Amino acid sequence: MTTIGILGAGQLGRMLALAGYPLGMSFRFLDPVSDSPAGRLADHLVFDYSDTSALERFASGLDVITYEFENVPVEAARHLERFIPVYPPPIALEKAQDRFVEKSFFCELGIHTPRFINSPFHGLRDEIGFPAVLKTRRMGYDGKGQAVVQSKIELESELQNGNTDELILEEFISFERELSMIGVRNKTGEMRFYPLVENHHREGILRLSLMTGDVSSNLQRQAEGYCATVMTTLDYVGVLAIEFFEKDGQLLANEMAPRVHNSGHWTIEGAVTSQFENHVRAMSDLPLGSTDPRGACAMVNLIGSLPDVKSFLKIEGAHLHLYDKSPRPKRKIGHVTLVEKDVETLTRKLDLVKEIVDVL
Ligand code: AMP
Repeated sequence: MTTIGILGAGQLGRMLALAGYPLGMSFRFLDPVSDSPAGRLADHLVFDYSDTSALERFASGLDVITYEFENVPVEAARHLERFIPVYPPPIALEKAQDRFVEKSFFCELGIHTPRFINSPFHGLRDEIGFPAVLKTRRMGYDGKGQAVVQSKIELESELQNGNTDELILEEFISFERELSMIGVRNKTGEMRFYPLVENHHREGILRLSLMTGDVSSNLQRQAEGYCATVMTTLDYVGVLAIEFFEKDGQLLANEMAPRVHNSGHWTIEGAVTSQFENHVRAMSDLPLGSTDPRGACAMVNLIGSLPDVKSFLKIEGAHLHLYDKSPRPKRKIGHVTLVEKDVETLTRKLDLVKEIVDVL
């Protein structure tokens, strides 16, 4: 039986374990926060990631280690790698944790991105133009650590307010859509890709993912090619997500996540094999499963507070997932997935979900 260690015990870890149990796998979590969504499913060690002796206790008896968030300290992943294989490889964490490193890496691989410059911006900011997006290089997620600036004056005032060492200034893209690609690669180099999904954010937080087949084969091919290039270059094992802006029929990469991703939650019921199952399969030397969709899908995040659970369950075919997290503003506490035979039925069902929860 494969025993998988997971750094982080949030909802992604919980869904990984739920996907691995039918395959006879067992799980152990490490997370400094004791009250966690995955902690009620499996052993959960509560230690800081910097505690090397705790890391070694955690690793003892495991077959493989993964992580469920991209801000895992790279040193912890590197330390664990001395004893047990860590997938995706820690180099993927290094690339994804710093927006400047990440975007430079995309450019080296020929993957288009919005134009960007690293701080200090000396004279270069004119190349980006306004409006522009100012972001922290590290630890930004769900729209945190970023601001849209409309002019040089606004930029100067933002720069005076914060630490100017670790920033990146990006071209503001008035995109048509946000799309994400989820790919998976195993140790033998076999790769599979899910269909691109359309993502809708509010206040930087994902609210709705739609997989309706409304994406050209050209874009799908381009996204798969980009994802394959990143995975092959990094000798990647596991699931990788890349978020794109669609603009004038082209894809511009915004960021990547070396882990299972919120925009892939629809795959639990909506694809033949979920992203979670394919991630644990990839790490355990098992053949990858089909990524074909089972219908037109929508995934709605439940954020901040929990509406009446029964009203979701009254919607025929709605799949409700609750993460066992206490409600808090801007916190993801669950999601609902719809899988329908056609887009028309999906739209009708989605309207029923929208009556219960504020989607956008
Ligand atoms: P991020 O933290 O980079 O994922 O950004 C969160 C959200 O902000 C994205 O999903 C977009 O909706 C928006 N955003 C980020 N960067 C840009 C950009 N360069 N131009 C326009 N919108 C952006």
